[in-house]
Amino acid sequence: MASYDFRAPRLFLDAPLGAGGRVALDRAQANYLRNVLRLNDGDAVLVFNGRDGEWRAHLAEAGRKAADLAIVERTRPQTAPADLLYAFAPLKAARLDYMVQKAVEMGVGRLKPVFTRRTQAARVNRERMRANAVEAAEQCGILSIPAVEPDEALPAFLAALEPDRLVVFCDEDAPLADPVAALGRTGARAPKLAVLVGPEGGFDDAERALILEHPHVVRLSLGPRILRADTAAVAVLALVQAVLGDWR
Ligand code: SAH
Repeated sequence: MASYDFRAPRLFLDAPLGAGGRVALDRAQANYLRNVLRLNDGDAVLVFNGRDGEWRAHLAEAGRKAADLAIVERTRPQTAPADLLYAFAPLKAARLDYMVQKAVEMGVGRLKPVFTRRTQAARVNRERMRANAVEAAEQCGILSIPAVEPDEALPAFLAALEPDRLVVFCDEDAPLADPVAALGRTGARAPKLAVLVGPEGGFDDAERALILEHPHVVRLSLGPRILRADTAAVAVLALVQAVLGDWR
């Protein structure tokens, strides 16, 4: 992160990026740069598209309401997303927004809504999740936007998992035990990981039994208190990144 420019605004663009290129901004992006951030022609912006790395660009005139970006030079090469699947029971609107933003900040590579028996949200809005993922990536210097996968019921989700993917199962009923040691004992190196967090109503016993049938699973306690699901997300992802992931 040494040469990262924290001051320049960052924008995700769905367009190819290369030196000498010029990209027309959509109305919302043009409005954001010109009227919210009050940038002028020539001001610097960092842009990325999830494929071509991060580029320095300058705002350029293109009529009264429009704006172009002139692409100047690459500031960082593209990085691959982590093979870290974040599977979660969808929550209601505001908490789900928060959970998606935080999961992206914490470095997940894919987001997977999983319906359980006690899930209260009736459906998920994937576009809204995607918008939250883009916003978190823009703010946090993340170069690949995690995919938002179609939702699935828990049994189908488990059946489709690769047997060698380690499932970090956050179970509020697990006996209290050191989570750092539990993750360390998995011996997972450059691991394929899935983290699973349940709904506000928790998992039921049949679901617990089904999850524990997965060939490669660690049942994790996150301490003596019941955490809200969005808090559990941040807590478990910190543990996983520190013990098995890219915090090392
Ligand atoms: N309603 C449940 C709590 C669910 S909390 C109850 O009262 O028992 C929502 C989810 O966050 C849980 O399904 C679990 O995945 C995770 N979680 C919360 N606290 C946890 C803890 N202490 N240990 C492990 N997982 C936890």
